[in-house]
Amino acid sequence: MGLEEHLPSGVLLTSVEKLVNWTRKSSLWPATFGLACCAIEMMTTGAPRYDLARFGMEVFRASPRQADLMIVAGRVTNKMAPVLRQIYDQMPEPRWVLAMGVCASSGGMFNNYAVVQGVDHIVPVDMYLPGCPPRPEMLIDAILKLHAKIMDEPLGTKRAAQLAESGHKTELVPSSVKFAPEERVDERRRAALLPPLEGKK
Ligand code: SF4
Repeated sequence: MGLEEHLPSGVLLTSVEKLVNWTRKSSLWPATFGLACCAIEMMTTGAPRYDLARFGMEVFRASPRQADLMIVAGRVTNKMAPVLRQIYDQMPEPRWVLAMGVCASSGGMFNNYAVVQGVDHIVPVDMYLPGCPPRPEMLIDAILKLHAKIMDEPLGTKRAAQLAESGHKTELVPSSVKFAPEERVDERRRAALLPPLEGKK
């Protein structure tokens, strides 16, 4: 933006940062980009049963100019790689990439000359999602974790330096633990992932 480079960091910019990140994570528009079988699960996630509209994401855009999230759903062949990169380059900043499934993340079982061994060889990846195929619940979990990362993104270099100095790390707790009813969460799992609840021994 430019403004944050000239003003001292403080209450105002911290609050603006939160507001900007909240608006960004609340209106992620994915590019329509399915490459293989994982795309079926991605489409299911957008359908009424799983309802991505709850997160402001039901609008899968046909134009990369209107998208800020690329969900790489499926294996990427060497022939497809330059096309994928071109679509990524046409997306406006800020933009994020989610590698959906083992094929997109690492090539998976397609360890051969035709398939790219991980889409991070072509574009920077913000979130990896394992599974073959990952179920819609898993995709939603990865999206919620990406939301948490976006909420922690610094606005400008000064804030980035501040955050780096503070040693702050984004809390990436699985949704199955974070949002589960108290009585259904395994205590040890919760203790390993979440800070102790206040007032609870
Ligand atoms: S991870 Fe499995 S479901 Fe997804 S594209 Fe690869 S083979 Fe298909």
